[in-house]
Parts: sequence; C-alpha cells; structure tokens
Amino acid sequence: MTDPHFPITPAPGAGDVLVVVDVQHDFLPGGALGVSDGDRIIPPLNRVIDRFLQAGLPIFFSRDWHPPDHCSFREQGGPWPPHCIRGTWGAAFAENLHVPDGAVIISKGTQKDEEQYSTLFGHDAEGRTLARRLEDLPVRRVFIGGLATDYCVLNTVRDAAKMGFRLWVMTDAVAAVDIQPGDGARALDEMVRNGAVLITSGEPAS
Ligand SMILES: [Zn+2]
Repeated sequence: MTDPHFPITPAPGAGDVLVVVDVQHDFLPGGALGVSDGDRIIPPLNRVIDRFLQAGLPIFFSRDWHPPDHCSFREQGGPWPPHCIRGTWGAAFAENLHVPDGAVIISKGTQKDEEQYSTLFGHDAEGRTLARRLEDLPVRRVFIGGLATDYCVLNTVRDAAKMGFRLWVMTDAVAAVDIQPGDGARALDEMVRNGAVLITSGEPAS
C-alpha cells in the first residue's frame, strides 16, 4: 500500500514522535527575524502533522516565548532583534499551521537570562521539559521539522542525538536563516554526523 503524501517507510506508527520547531510569525517572512522562504515548509509540515494526528501519535510544538527584555535581544547585548515576545502576534504560531486543540506546546527562552535554541529543555504547561516528555515515551524515531535549520533545529538535533534518539529530519520541512551562506547546508551535514537521517516528507526513505 502506498501513500502519495507520506510514503516514509516504514510509515509512522507506534513509537514515532513529531517535533515541530518554532513555526512562529517572527520567524516567517514579514516577521522580526523572518526566514526568507520559511513559509514553504508549512504545507509539508501540515501533511506530516495530519498523518501523525490520524495515527494518534505524539506531536510537540515548540515556540520561542521570550520576556520583553530577553538576553538574546540587541538592547541586552544579544545578537538578535526583539522577537517572539510572549503573548504578541510575532510569537503566535502561523495561522495556517495545523496546531490541533490540546496540542502539547513547549515554550523556551522564557527566562530573561537564559537563551535556549534547543527545544529539549523548553517546558510544557506543567513545567516538564521536552527531554523528560520524550524519556517518558517509548520512542522509536523522532521526526523533526520547523525553523530554523541552522539554530533551533540544529541544537534540538544535537541534544536529542546526545540522548540517544534516532532522528529523522525532513529537509522540505526545515528552512535556514543562512546569515553566512551555507549555514543551513552545514547544519544538515552536522545533523547527519550526529546520526540523523535526512528525508523529505514526500519521498521514500530507507
Ligand atoms: Zn529567540
């Protein structure tokens, strides 16, 4: 049996988990820190999200959720313009991203003095980290997509690989900031060196 939209082999099933990283207005075109082609990832991501929902598999949605005086902002000596300030439009998920009711949301960078690129140590509404949530599941594969390839996706893959998880990174469902040309490609190379499998949401993978 083939599925034209998601022929990942084997198809998602028990033990598979999806992590959707930071698909927020400020990281999309028009946002404070917009990835120029960031919105191309949303249709493939939605197909994967829908597939996981149909199968009743866990999905985690991470978000940057900063206080107004976060240490990563230039006014505080950090590298970035203000972005993803908690409760603002810029911090909200893209309207066309399929975020189901009751989705598990992982907030990160919530403390003024703490930068968090990796989603693993962000926390859910009950204060549990994503790392803890994953440890509590029988995880076979972790699928990952979102923004940006060269920052939060890369750091999530680094940490998840250290924890021993098998990672499948969907290259049509990630996009890079590319401050230095090639940053995104180098990030993908590093992920592979960390054991990640690169796939696209619509291609068979081995
Ligand atoms: Zn941030």
